[in-house]
Amino acid sequence: MKLRFGEDTERFRTDLRAWLDANRPSDDEMAADPALSSAHVPAWASAWAKRLFDAGWLLPGSPPELGGRNANTIEQMVYHEEFAAYSVPRTTNPQGVSIIAPTLLDLGSEEQKQTLALPILRGDLAACLGMSEPEAGSDLAALATRAVADGDDFVVSGRKIWTSGAHHADFCFCFVRTDASGPKKHHGISVLIIPMDTPGVSCRPLPSLASLDDTDFNEVLLDDVRVPKANLVGREGEGWSIATRSLGHERGMLWISYASALDSSIDALFAQARAEGELDPVDADELVSLYIDAQAVRCMGYQGVRKLADGKPSPEQSILKLVGSESARRLNRVGMECLGERGLDAALPAPVDRSAGAHRRDPISWAIRYLLSFSGTIAGGTSEIQRNIVAERVLGLPR
Ligand SMILES: Cc1cc2nc3c(=O)[nH]c(=O)nc-3n(C[C@H](O)[C@H](O)[C@H](O)COP(=O)(O)OP(=O)(O)OC[C@H]3O[C@@H](n4cnc5c(N)ncnc54)[C@H](O)[C@@H]3O)c2cc1C
Repeated sequence: MKLRFGEDTERFRTDLRAWLDANRPSDDEMAADPALSSAHVPAWASAWAKRLFDAGWLLPGSPPELGGRNANTIEQMVYHEEFAAYSVPRTTNPQGVSIIAPTLLDLGSEEQKQTLALPILRGDLAACLGMSEPEAGSDLAALATRAVADGDDFVVSGRKIWTSGAHHADFCFCFVRTDASGPKKHHGISVLIIPMDTPGVSCRPLPSLASLDDTDFNEVLLDDVRVPKANLVGREGEGWSIATRSLGHERGMLWISYASALDSSIDALFAQARAEGELDPVDADELVSLYIDAQAVRCMGYQGVRKLADGKPSPEQSILKLVGSESARRLNRVGMECLGERGLDAALPAPVDRSAGAHRRDPISWAIRYLLSFSGTIAGGTSEIQRNIVAERVLGLPR
């Protein structure tokens, strides 16, 4: 059987490729002013966002006035495939562009759409996502940051953690507890827009496992922060459904970045193995098994997108996130091990891996890639949580 796309879809792909060839920022431009975190938008990234938005290539599924071209689901998949293949970041503020702006466009007030969502999409503002807390990660409903009503304001106190890019963000899309009295803890959660320069907000950037200089994570301290009630997103107490909905944006396409990174890294591993001339049989076995996993992720991804295109639910998404992120971690370990002790040399560059983080553009070693690859198995729901979801919702096993 030969799988192919229809003519219209192929035309869409050709148009996008031609546009990217003519308009993408050059590698030199990006290297001269690299993004320092996932909410840092250098001048080239801001100009790039406007070019994408104005040409309808930023959120292709949206109408033109929101940076799109009303692309259908299959075209949106092709769009993400091409971006992954071009190795050019669509944005340096992925939380802002992929999660926060689309959620504000769905549920925000007209003012929030105009003054926050559109400026994020056009690269004029950057946002961070304040969900996780020291005692509320996988169990988001346990969040304890309190927002107490006081006149026209809420007074917010608490602590967020792992907030990507908070030290460069203009505002935080922050999940807070506005009601602690109900029996069900997920009922009293709301979302507030908190400008990062509000008195009482402070950030403590945290280094990553890979390097003391790689500070994307933050601890965000909120100490009696006064936030106008007008900054509420949606209605008070609606935070739980906003969390579910906002994380659902583009979730159906997340597997593409894993599949593309796996494909290109496996090619690089095969090339590396040929150049080395000799391959341990155990490593050879691992390489072939990774190749099979990459094909499985792509086939299952296509199957899921077909269901989404037909308006059906796609339970494959949790399996894809699980297998994609775990395979990426295994691949980086194998890449390192195939080089023997040289694999531990943090200065020996490996191919660029876009899954290592949109803000990273430098070629990094297999050893550093291996350390960074753990993040994919944690961010957006850990592997254990994905396994629970697969057990309960896909296989129908009891809790
Ligand atoms: C790269 C990266 C970027 C991130 N960016 C952001 C961000 O911008 N904003 C933000 O708010 N957060 C962010 N996070 C945080 C992320 O959402 C949390 O790390 C994640 O939800 C897990 O929560 P936790 O770290 O508190 O771990 P915990 O929930 O404390 O889990 C600890 C361990 O227990 C396991 N576990 C927990 N519950 C169960 C269960 N029910 N069954 C089985 N095992 C379980 C987990 O799998 C894990 O191994 C980011 C994380 C990463 C890695």
